[in-house]
Amino acid sequence: MTTLDLLIDMHRNHERQGPGSLEVAERALQATGVLTRAPNDVIQVADLGCGTGVASLFLAQKINALVTSVDLAEPFLSELEHQAKAAGVADRIRTLQCSMSDLPFEPASLDVIWSEGSVYNIGFKTGLQYWKQFLKPGGVLVVSEIAWITEERPDEIQEYWDSAYPGIGTKSEKTAIAETCGYTVLEQFVLPEDCWLEQYYAPIERDFEAFLERHDYHENAAALVAYERQEIEMYRKYKEFYSYGMWIFRA
Ligand code: SAH
Repeated sequence: MTTLDLLIDMHRNHERQGPGSLEVAERALQATGVLTRAPNDVIQVADLGCGTGVASLFLAQKINALVTSVDLAEPFLSELEHQAKAAGVADRIRTLQCSMSDLPFEPASLDVIWSEGSVYNIGFKTGLQYWKQFLKPGGVLVVSEIAWITEERPDEIQEYWDSAYPGIGTKSEKTAIAETCGYTVLEQFVLPEDCWLEQYYAPIERDFEAFLERHDYHENAAALVAYERQEIEMYRKYKEFYSYGMWIFRA
């Protein structure tokens, strides 16, 4: 198994593959304004880097939406298809295996682009610049991205994230990038701790032993668990200095 296969195997049985919660999704959805649309108005949504699709499922159940759920990882998309059937929303969710940096949508065809915990894969600025053409005039982008939430921070955590994700910046730097891409901020807030610890880290942490066992304690599996454990330890130690920010932008 490649490291990518192992990574997918570690995450595919969990509800989410990054920090977030349904409460936070609800708050972001409120801020988009789409809840006030006429009930028979079908809202065109793309969930980019959807993983197993926690947001796609939420949106398909909450609003009159047609959701295109995009991810590179086929196992995540088949899990989403399975769950969409179980939830009775399979007719509202279409999965698409492709890159968020090479999308097949028509220009100005989407009401909402939703992207939680995934734009870092192509970079915040690259993603925001590229995606804008697919939004209808006045369309909305909901995006979450890791950010520093204080002006100063200890060297250890600065160095950790500079190496793991050099694109990390402060909330105001991220907002400024979006504004240069032509978006206006409708709302911005910081994800609370439970989005990391209870919603995201706890389920994968509980599964580390079983994960190692099913891969016969292979060194690549052990290295991946060590990497994830370090990320979790860093978060526990330094959570007052960073989090995910959630931005709701109008195009
Ligand atoms: N939005 C989900 C998953 C976040 S994890 C959630 O909040 O739970 C990031 C996801 O981005 C993973 O599912 C990964 O497979 C996907 N991904 C990574 N690079 C990608 C790319 N270039 N295009 C599309 N998806 C990508």
